Amino acid sequence: MATKLPTPPRVGMVSLGCPKALVDSERILTKLRASGYDMSPDYAGADVVLVNTCGFLDSAKEESLEAIGEAIAENGRVVVTGCMGKEADVIRARFPDVLAITGPQQYEDVVAAVLEAAPPVANAYLDLVPEQGLKLTPRHYSYLKISEGCNHRCSFCIIPSIRGDLASRRPDAILREAEKLVAAGTRELLVISQDTSAYGVDIRHQPREWKGAEVRAHMTDLAGALGSLKTPEGDTPWVRLHYVYPYPHVDQIIPLMAEGLVLPYLDIPFQHASPKVLKAMRRPANEAKVLERLKNWRAQVPDIAVRSSFVVGFPGETEEDFQYLLSWLEEAQLDRVGAFRFEPVEGAAANDLPDPVPEEVKEERFRRVMDLTARISAEKLAAKVGTTIDVLIDTVDAVPPYAQYGEGNHAKHGGGVIETSHFDGHLDAPHSSHHHDVGATGRSKADAPEIDGEVHLRDAAGLKPGDFVKVLVEDSDVHDLYGVPA
Ligand code: SF4
Repeated sequence: MATKLPTPPRVGMVSLGCPKALVDSERILTKLRASGYDMSPDYAGADVVLVNTCGFLDSAKEESLEAIGEAIAENGRVVVTGCMGKEADVIRARFPDVLAITGPQQYEDVVAAVLEAAPPVANAYLDLVPEQGLKLTPRHYSYLKISEGCNHRCSFCIIPSIRGDLASRRPDAILREAEKLVAAGTRELLVISQDTSAYGVDIRHQPREWKGAEVRAHMTDLAGALGSLKTPEGDTPWVRLHYVYPYPHVDQIIPLMAEGLVLPYLDIPFQHASPKVLKAMRRPANEAKVLERLKNWRAQVPDIAVRSSFVVGFPGETEEDFQYLLSWLEEAQLDRVGAFRFEPVEGAAANDLPDPVPEEVKEERFRRVMDLTARISAEKLAAKVGTTIDVLIDTVDAVPPYAQYGEGNHAKHGGGVIETSHFDGHLDAPHSSHHHDVGATGRSKADAPEIDGEVHLRDAAGLKPGDFVKVLVEDSDVHDLYGVPA
């Protein structure tokens, strides 16, 4: 029997004003199409009418008001957006029945208003974009972007000049997206931005209602609300925070980790430790107290994993500065470290700094940092052997990856940038006398996808991507763990 398809709701659009407003209209329509709406060429066929207004001149305002009036008279269900949205009170005074009013470029607000006025019907047969939006990652983990741009001006970075200052999304819009993702199979939410700790500063941490409670546009509120979501099986999805600058309020996140709402994982891009280099980098945070705070965090959440990245060979970095970094790293005992050799990016202020570091010196410092951090990583992972950890399964293979690694292979993984796959091409004798035919690869709470290590499992029959399993750790190397479902 043929499947009867539900009819999608239809949106009518009246677009006034300049080419900029037209581009806005197109963007809004693209989003609405992606959310499962059809367009209506007339008032009569529309479930809701969107009027994109212009407020540049008085005559344009009048034209906008007339257009709103016409839409109300012809259809009755009207959402107003665009430049005149800034004068909501004028519109409300004349047309109290308008459903919602949003300002220019508030795409999410407009889409949210339409979603409310005429809820879409999910349709797996017709929707090009699935209900949870387009994703480039596997179904079981998703990146969740909470803001664009950045208010800092680090001298090696050109992001603010390309993306502009910090522009945070509304917390309820983020939570709605996260809820959809989790309902559609996401088991791990990776919170990203240029500066996660600064989330909401630009919108004065304005609270929004979410499930009957107020959620401020603030990292702590948002993290807590994300950690309260539930998967269809009733599990708490993993919430992993990336690009967290160590502002004082990061300390408030640690109790959420202790409660299990947020993963015990912090990705803090320190970039350097020497105060002189940090100053030349114009970095936002004062690193002086960081070692003390790290200790504090570990006292509260012993299994917290801290990842960071560092730049070596920044202009003016002396051997002394570099030594400072090495001893800082030795003391900090970070779990995961990525290192980069400084490269001048076109347009970055750092390019004009004096005393560039010669390439061979950069290379040598890079090696030294990688050797040290590889040793720390190997020691930290070795300490996990014999413990039982939580693992999220990424892939299940017919040939067990576990068997590809012979005993004593560990030294071959030494040094180098952390890579996504650590298989080094050595197909040694199987690890033991077990004859398993199914292996799996997953990640522990300490491993973000693509950038950190992995957990290789033997005897993984019956597991599938997206499963949470308890794993007994049997072995380790520089980046990865090896184990068996417990
Ligand atoms: S490196 Fe600095 S300027 Fe660039 S995005 Fe990060 S905090 Fe902002």
